[in-house]
Amino acid sequence: MLVRLTDAWQDILARRAANSETGAYPAPVRQLLGEMAAAGVLMQGNIKFNGALVLQIFGDGPVKLGVVEVQPDFSLRATCTQVGDVAEDATLSQMVNVNNQGRCAITLDPQDRLPGQQPYQGVVPLFGDQGEKLENISEVLEHYMLQSEQLDTVLVLAADDKVAAGLLIQRLPIEGEGNLAGKADSVEREAALGQSEDFSRIAILSKSLKREELLTLDAETILHRLYWEEPLARFEPFVGETGPRFACRCSRERVGNMIRSLGTEEVESIIAERGQVDVGCDFCGAEYRFDPVDAAGLFTGLVPDVSGGSVH
Ligand SMILES: [Zn+2]
Repeated sequence: MLVRLTDAWQDILARRAANSETGAYPAPVRQLLGEMAAAGVLMQGNIKFNGALVLQIFGDGPVKLGVVEVQPDFSLRATCTQVGDVAEDATLSQMVNVNNQGRCAITLDPQDRLPGQQPYQGVVPLFGDQGEKLENISEVLEHYMLQSEQLDTVLVLAADDKVAAGLLIQRLPIEGEGNLAGKADSVEREAALGQSEDFSRIAILSKSLKREELLTLDAETILHRLYWEEPLARFEPFVGETGPRFACRCSRERVGNMIRSLGTEEVESIIAERGQVDVGCDFCGAEYRFDPVDAAGLFTGLVPDVSGGSVH
């Protein structure tokens, strides 16, 4: 699976750059978030999950949080929270894994979650088997895929200020039944059939794809360059309205719920200090303002009609 985000990615970057409080992302943060965005779309496309796939990095360095959320229709949003300075040549560990405490979480949140049902979440560290710090988010996610799905996966990711792109190659079980019955059995059978060898060869070809190629070449050229000796079956790409695009899910109602969860006391103290409650959306940059009447309405249930109509 190959993904190439252009307009959606540029939209995300432009919204951040327009935020007067934060300004644009430094180049290494932009690369991290872009690679996460490409990976999120690939993972959502791969599992075809009926709900949001949320990819998060909880950092212990100057980047505290990175979030990418991809819906089943491939609409997506992404943001990073930076709490300290990031050098122009910062590595992944210098940003999010200074003390090896950084974590990556993958959450699958079902669309029609039943009351009490928790979203599924898998968490992996940002270090390898020997405790060594991983410097590519692709390696972190390959570990996750091997742990959670028991499937060998190769991920190649890259992002700059125009494109966020990724390639995902995964070894599929030959037979679903055989795979469920036990991995060893299926591995043996695959070896006998020469399938392991096939996967190894294709994995090596895929890993040979360079960052620069992934960012600048179209799908046709990449597929030809990597797999020209392999038989290929191509699927119709998802583009435009069916493809990945930026969309934020924030709303005045959700922000209102969040403010209500702070409690009357907290909200009253904010209003006493600032005269109103202002909340900005980190994903899209929208500003939500609740004046004292709006805020009081959150607690009495008498929310003024935002369209200017009357309240009954
Ligand atoms: Zn928003």
